[in-house]
Amino acid sequence: MFTIEQVAQGVWAAVVTPGSGAVGNASIIDLGDFTVIVDTFSLPEAAKGLRMQAEQLTAKPVKYIINTHYHGDHHYGNQEFADCIIISTEQTREVLTSNAPPELKVWLESLQKQITALQEDWEVAAEQRLKEDLGYEIAEKEALLKAAPGIRRVTAGVTFQDTMDIHGSARSIQLLTYGGGHTCSDAMVYIADVQVLIAGDLGLNQSHPAMLHGFPEAWAGILERIGQDIDFKVLIPGHGGVAGPECLQEMLSYLKAIQSYAAAAVQSGTSADDWLAGGIPAPFHEWTFSHVFSWNFRWLYNQYSRN
Ligand SMILES: [Zn+2]
Repeated sequence: MFTIEQVAQGVWAAVVTPGSGAVGNASIIDLGDFTVIVDTFSLPEAAKGLRMQAEQLTAKPVKYIINTHYHGDHHYGNQEFADCIIISTEQTREVLTSNAPPELKVWLESLQKQITALQEDWEVAAEQRLKEDLGYEIAEKEALLKAAPGIRRVTAGVTFQDTMDIHGSARSIQLLTYGGGHTCSDAMVYIADVQVLIAGDLGLNQSHPAMLHGFPEAWAGILERIGQDIDFKVLIPGHGGVAGPECLQEMLSYLKAIQSYAAAAVQSGTSADDWLAGGIPAPFHEWTFSHVFSWNFRWLYNQYSRN
């Protein structure tokens, strides 16, 4: 469901296989006397494998789990680490504790409905890229549907507001948040000694980001601030392969471009359907999760239409 890639001494990215059901990337950090894991995938079964890999790679116990944000593809695997200390921002915990998980029956029905809608889109998709991405999304949702009865929500036992440091015998790492961009609260993990930044879904590698729970302008501001404040060479993104700092610039240009596409379409009186019929503009037409582009575009289009 994922492949392990060493990105620096004692730091590994667990990059998910598209369509496997794991969905969001995870990371493993060796702090010397214990191990920290960032995000736990969308499936407990994948998280079980992650834990085994982490214990083999570092030969140390997993002590802390960090959840970057409240989306399920980053914490549904938490239950495999119930004996560890789980950490998130205060606000991420607040979202997950104040909104109870849906009743199983309701959740299963909603997943089934989403799968049916995706299959309908898949049937009529003409472009190869779109058809492939919809196929992956259907497979991810089907894997979640199968796993859902066994998933129980495990939320953070420790929270932080702005930053928190974790000190091991060999290195220290910093957890930090610049507020909400992709969601109402997005955390990152910075490993200063090897200049690695784990960005959660604030930074994706050539993947269309899910924007519908986000705040595009604040998000762009966060990416600019990361570029100014954080000295990193390697970026482990929430989705897509391991990248460098240029990846955040690409994400920033995406957020700015899609907002201007939607604003221009509204202003010119072009319908969302007509605009989307022109396809995804370059260079974003090559990005994965291509089906998400029209969701993002319509979301912005509807907002701008109301104003
Ligand atoms: Zn997310």
